[in-house]
Amino acid sequence: MITTRQRLAAARRVVVKVGSSSLTSLSGGLDPARLDGLVDALAARRAAGSQVVLVSSGAIAAGLAPLRLPRRPRDLATQQAAASVGQLLLAHAYETSFKRYGQLVGQVLLTADDMIRRSHYRNAQRTLERLLGLDAVPVVNENDTVATDEIRVGDNDRLAALVAHIVGADGLVLLSDVDGLYDGDPRRPGARLITEVEAPSDLEAVAVARSGAGSLGTGGIATKITAAAMASASGIPVLLAAAEDAAAALDTGAAGPKCGTAFRASGRRMSARRFWLRHAADVRGRLDLDAGAVAAVVDRRRSLLAAGIHGISGDFVAGDVVDLVGPYGVVVARGVVGFDAAELPGLIGRRTRELPPEQRREVVHADDLVLV
Ligand code: GLU
Repeated sequence: MITTRQRLAAARRVVVKVGSSSLTSLSGGLDPARLDGLVDALAARRAAGSQVVLVSSGAIAAGLAPLRLPRRPRDLATQQAAASVGQLLLAHAYETSFKRYGQLVGQVLLTADDMIRRSHYRNAQRTLERLLGLDAVPVVNENDTVATDEIRVGDNDRLAALVAHIVGADGLVLLSDVDGLYDGDPRRPGARLITEVEAPSDLEAVAVARSGAGSLGTGGIATKITAAAMASASGIPVLLAAAEDAAAALDTGAAGPKCGTAFRASGRRMSARRFWLRHAADVRGRLDLDAGAVAAVVDRRRSLLAAGIHGISGDFVAGDVVDLVGPYGVVVARGVVGFDAAELPGLIGRRTRELPPEQRREVVHADDLVLV
C-alpha cells in the first residue's frame, strides 16, 4: 500500500504554505536568505516535474520594520497599512528570488469573499489554473489591505487548505517554525514528535500544546491542525514541517519526505460544492431541528422538511447557507435554505401536505446538505 509520505512525494500539484516567522524577523523585516532557501526548495520540486502553488504569509510582518513599528499592531488600520507596504516587498522578494531560476511568479491576493461566495470561488479557481497553465508560480496571500476582522479568512493555514482544494492539489505542505505535531508541549522534555496521523481520531488523543500565535503571524498549532484536518478529510495528504526543512519536506525520493508530521488523506475528495458548504460558506442563520428531523437528515440522508423545525434565527434569504442544529445545540449539518427567514415562521412544525401548495417543498434539499 502506498504511504502518505509516498503520496506526498509523488504529488503532481502541491500547495506549499509558509508562515511569517519563517521569512521575517521583528527587527529586520524580510530575511532574503531564508526566502531564497524556500524558493530553492520550490524550484527543485518544480524541476522534478511538479506544479507548485505558494501561499505565503509575511505581508504584515514584512511591513513592520520599514514602517518602524516595534511590534505587530493590534488595530486594523495599522495592520492594513503594514500589509500594504509589506505585501509589495514580499512579492518583489519572491519575484527576485525566483528569477534566479528564470521562473515567473504571479501574485494572487484573495479575500474571504472569494472563498465564501461560490461564484467568486470559481473565479479564483480559473485564475489559479490559468497561471499554472502559463507556467507561472502563483504566490497567494489574503488581501490584508482590504480585509476587515469580520470578513477575513484570518490565518493562512486555512487559506492554504482552501486553495489546495480549489486547485485540486495532490498534496499540501505547511511550513512554519514548528517541525511537526507533538504529543505534549514541545518545549518540555519528553514530548514526542507524532510522525503519522492516520485518522482524525488520532488527533483527539493528542494533548496539543496550544502555544497560541507567535508575535509575527496569526496562526498557532491549532490552525495548522484545522487546516490539515480540512485538507486530509477531503482527500489531500498533508505534511506539517519546519520551514528550514523545506527541501526535505518537498523531496520527491521514493520513500517520501523524512521530516515532520504526515496526515493521511482520510476522506474522499469532495466536490467543490460540498467543500464550500462545509468549510468556507458564510453561515447566515440557523434552523433548530427536533430529534426526528435530526435522524432523518443525519442517518437517512433525507431532505429537511418544515415539520421537523421548531425554531429559526438569523436574517437569511433563500439560497443562503444555514446551520442545522439538533436538540442539544449541536450543529449537525449545514445547508442551502430554500426559503427566506421571513417566510418560515408560518410554515415550521407543519406537515408538508398542510402547507399552501406553492410552499410544499423541502426547506433544505438533501443535495444541498453536508453533515458536520
Ligand atoms: N496574511 C497575513 C500576512 O501576510 C498572515 C496570516 C497568517 O499569519 O496566517 O501577514
